[in-house]
Amino acid sequence: MSQWNIFIIPKRLILYLFLALGLLVTLSIYHAYPLGISTISLLNQDIVYDIMLDPGHGGIDPGAIGAGDIYEKDYVLDIVLQMAEILRSHGLNVGLTRDTDRDVSHLVSEGTRHRRDLLGRFKLMNQAHLGISVHTNASKDPKQSGAIVFYMKDQYIDEIYARLVLEELEKVQILNEPKPIPRNTLLLPKAKPPVLLVEVGFMSNSTDLAKLGDPQFRSNVARAICDGVLRFIDWRQAEQSELTP
Ligand SMILES: [Zn+2]
Repeated sequence: MSQWNIFIIPKRLILYLFLALGLLVTLSIYHAYPLGISTISLLNQDIVYDIMLDPGHGGIDPGAIGAGDIYEKDYVLDIVLQMAEILRSHGLNVGLTRDTDRDVSHLVSEGTRHRRDLLGRFKLMNQAHLGISVHTNASKDPKQSGAIVFYMKDQYIDEIYARLVLEELEKVQILNEPKPIPRNTLLLPKAKPPVLLVEVGFMSNSTDLAKLGDPQFRSNVARAICDGVLRFIDWRQAEQSELTP
């Protein structure tokens, strides 16, 4: 029996050495790229929603402010809550970054409130197959009005998504730009699924502000964005079934 022990002990030693080496490599990578590791852990979350809806701002962050102390955060929450209902009625599993008047900075532990809020939204977007962030705009030029759809630059799929949503939005709101705008800033590059940022109108424009104050207009906008989203989901499913023989 003692003869076998001679062989068994070195095998265990090798295993322990490998474990120790693995631990050392992990620790040294973490030491060199601590942010890299935390980014990976954000990206590796399970996808649990068909779509994540993000009403911009919230809590201490009012977003754009219209004449008469009207806050972007309130209008976009109203629009997005209606969108959630519409999309759920189509059988989609819908997630919301917020469903009350608050921001999502509590989801991330480090950085300024603004950055934690942004990363929190990105973390939630990555739990879905699709995302959309809804905002209202503001400009120093009071003549600026209408809707804008931003999508992630150089992403073919995202551009189609943006085009379909813009086409539907055009039925209920004038457009500020006739085409979706490619961007590589804001929330878009940090999100894994296709994500759009939709500006539904300008709080700094009196006509847009009056429209936004009308509950019927907000319902029309919610319905139009959902129609675009549903068209994109249909398009993507058709594409995927074509690829699968
Ligand atoms: Zn905003």
